Amino acid sequence: MKETTTQSFQFEQIGVIRSCYRQKFGIPRQPGIVTAAEATLELIPPYNQENLVRGLDGFSHIWVHFIFHKTMDEGWRPTIRPPRLGGRQRMGVFATRSTHRPNPMGMSVVELRKIESGNGKLKLHIGAVDLLDGTPVIDIKPYLPYADALPNAKGGFAPLPMQMAEVKFTDEAMSQCLRYEQRTGRQLILLIEQVLGQDPRPAYLRETSERRHGTALWDLNVVWEYTNHHFLVKELEPLKL
Ligand code: SAM
Repeated sequence: MKETTTQSFQFEQIGVIRSCYRQKFGIPRQPGIVTAAEATLELIPPYNQENLVRGLDGFSHIWVHFIFHKTMDEGWRPTIRPPRLGGRQRMGVFATRSTHRPNPMGMSVVELRKIESGNGKLKLHIGAVDLLDGTPVIDIKPYLPYADALPNAKGGFAPLPMQMAEVKFTDEAMSQCLRYEQRTGRQLILLIEQVLGQDPRPAYLRETSERRHGTALWDLNVVWEYTNHHFLVKELEPLKL
């Protein structure tokens, strides 16, 4: 039998993500968890024509295929320690959703909230994302509930979503959040609760508490610590990237 040789394929970027997540730290490990996470997917010429999304507005969700551009230069690893297993066990890369893959391609089902077009621009407003700001998009497909939703499927070592942790705010942080929400119309409090609630700390940081951390959301650095079994949001600072 003839031996198979590998082939290389080249794909072109069709769009870019503009997201509330300005840094990797804090982004949930899958979409759908942080419903307050908003983004736009801006289509790039020549893919910014309304024709290409005709009929898409009838779908509540889409598949976004993208490139893990921030980690691709680090290469790939045959085995991974999934955070879900506390970073203690190794699983094969193809048994995980790790970003460090032979082909650094990700896929996320996200909410399609609105399609906006005009002035030569075409933007999909999407929600509940796990995508970093600036992520290059290579394809979009409608989510088909009859084919894509499999209620009896087995979930391997990740059968259920993680349990949400409790998130509290200092008085100062809460009033900063309320002022920010009033000024921007963004759902910042819910976003922070959902982002910290899914415990963004890598396994090695879970042992240490009362350490100051910062998570970049929109144009803010959200300063928090983990103390007495809950996350405490201490203050909001302007983001310096
Ligand atoms: N849902 C996708 C999948 O299954 O292919 C992504 C899963 S991956 C575990 C999710 C993580 O990817 C996020 O927590 C974030 O840290 C990271 N991420 C998101 N956008 C990225 C990008 N453009 N480059 C590198 N890492 C990214």
